[in-house]
Amino acid sequence: MGGTSSNDLAFSCNCGSVQGHLDASAAKSGNHVVCYCADCRAAELYLGQPDPAPGPVDILQTTPDVIHITQGQQHLGLFRLGPKGLFRWYATCCNAPMFNTLKSPKLAFAGVAAARLTTPERLGPVISEGYIPQPDGKRKHKNVGRSAFALFSRMIATRLSGRWRSTPFFDVETGEPVRTAMTLTKEERKKLYPKV
Ligand SMILES: [Zn+2]
Ligand SMILES: [Zn+2]
Repeated sequence: MGGTSSNDLAFSCNCGSVQGHLDASAAKSGNHVVCYCADCRAAELYLGQPDPAPGPVDILQTTPDVIHITQGQQHLGLFRLGPKGLFRWYATCCNAPMFNTLKSPKLAFAGVAAARLTTPERLGPVISEGYIPQPDGKRKHKNVGRSAFALFSRMIATRLSGRWRSTPFFDVETGEPVRTAMTLTKEERKKLYPKV
């Protein structure tokens, strides 16, 4: 406890060129999740970040209207691991992974890299875990259904209220992302994924 409504959640890239904040409400209304999936790991490796494995990547799932980039917007870069992959937004100045979105602003989803927050502890406990490795080599999810439902409800509310139009990632008139998405080649992908 101890947050006030003026107590926004600051974020920045690793070098500090990209800065901004999330609305204070984002910690409570969003889903604090961790993901062990091969894509999240591959995205970190592609950007030259420390390998998260065997640990997960820590993410706040929310809607783009709570995200405000106040400085360094010109350093936003965008890539996809594959032709159907999430939009993965990063800071071109220092290669810090920043956000994930879907490919249309009308699907008002955003994942925020918790590691970029100044006070990630304010996100509170992790409420769900995805793709947890099991001893038998399979993967398991924990509480993902419930958190997905809450998030989906929030996305719908954001769409219906028109708040989806408030996004730093898209030109809402054209529906196009503010950067051209670069998609990795098969060869590039191969290097990033564990052999299965
Ligand atoms: Zn940077
Ligand atoms: Zn993942």
